[in-house]
Amino acid sequence: MIKTIVLNEDREKSLLRHHPWVFSKAIKKEDDDIENGSIVDVLDSNNNFLARGFYSKNSQIKVRVLSFNKENIDREFFKKRIVNAIDARSLLIENGNDGVRLIAAEGDFLPGLIVDKYNDVLSLSISTKGMDKVKNIILDILKELYPNFSIYERSDVKTRKKEGLPLVSGLLYGKDIDDTLFVLENNLVKIPIDVKNGHKTGGYLDQRASRKRLYEIAKNKSVLNCFSYTGGFSLMALKGGAKSVHNVDVSDNALQKAKDGVVFNHLDPGRCKFIKKDVFLHLRDLVKDGVKYDIVVLDPPKFIESANTLKKGCRGYQDINRLAMQIVADGGILLTFSCSGLMDLALFQKIVADAAIEANVDAQLISTLRQDVDHVVALPCPESFYLKGLEVRIKHR
Ligand code: SAH
Repeated sequence: MIKTIVLNEDREKSLLRHHPWVFSKAIKKEDDDIENGSIVDVLDSNNNFLARGFYSKNSQIKVRVLSFNKENIDREFFKKRIVNAIDARSLLIENGNDGVRLIAAEGDFLPGLIVDKYNDVLSLSISTKGMDKVKNIILDILKELYPNFSIYERSDVKTRKKEGLPLVSGLLYGKDIDDTLFVLENNLVKIPIDVKNGHKTGGYLDQRASRKRLYEIAKNKSVLNCFSYTGGFSLMALKGGAKSVHNVDVSDNALQKAKDGVVFNHLDPGRCKFIKKDVFLHLRDLVKDGVKYDIVVLDPPKFIESANTLKKGCRGYQDINRLAMQIVADGGILLTFSCSGLMDLALFQKIVADAAIEANVDAQLISTLRQDVDHVVALPCPESFYLKGLEVRIKHR
């Protein structure tokens, strides 16, 4: 018997618009003893069916919707969703990308599940109790679809603790995998990916389109790549003919992988510098020394974790953008990003505009950038559009 949750009056609107989350404050009453991670039905205040989804006992998001129909949530259901998700990526794979996000959680109507493909390795990350309960079904389907691949689990996101889940990682299926995988991107370069110990599922596929943009504009330019991780942007800049590329990151491991990537791709290490330093400190030092670059890439980690830290996070973005603008050469380009889902594009643009005033420069928006197309956004769920970027041309006054 599927247990039920009844919403307060007038709280059904977002579900009728197919937003996939039910917040605890929208709930009027729920059946007794609903098991964490079980399937529940959500009803409106007149007991009409609205949606079916995973119940999260301890989360603010009490239900993550799987379906707006009364359908069975079984192997067949998950197989259909997974095959559909993979279909949506076929063009990317055909066009020279061996690294692709195959399943993007809410974006593919599979909340709590991310699967990234790196060559012949699937890196899987589960973040909710509900999805964790069906892990064996998901694994079974992936094995059926990719019998010759290795499947590695990276379910070590902090949010799992709230769901009452341990942080786990390790090989689930297939042969052991290399410490570094070199993964072809846009038919141009092979980017180092560390599935076992790297960030997230191993790397940042979401920046593929923006890295391509850098490739297009980098010829004969000096580039500063801030928060460089394993050097994806740098490889694209070098491939595009950049005169020099300087990488800044606090992680030794990431910088080492970035170095390995330059050699692996037969690009010129003589044009590169790898600087282990806090980006905020480094930018301040560069401002002090009057150093300028033709292009600066600014791809920081998430500054805004929750609504409570919005204001502080915004200040952080403004500060770092101001500093970066001061070291862009006259007429040069700043590629600046925010991966904070709580900050929308309009707010980000405003913050970067305010940073330009503080930096005493004129800033022109050349292009708007975003998470690449395999990081699908569910239209009714703006939170899944988390990564945005601005290509800004800087003129010093
Ligand atoms: N642009 C990268 C992804 C960046 S991820 C790509 O395209 O693949 C963010 C990186 O910022 C991580 O490698 C992390 O080690 C680094 N980092 C976080 N805080 C930092 C700081 N204060 N100074 C320098 N690097 C930092």
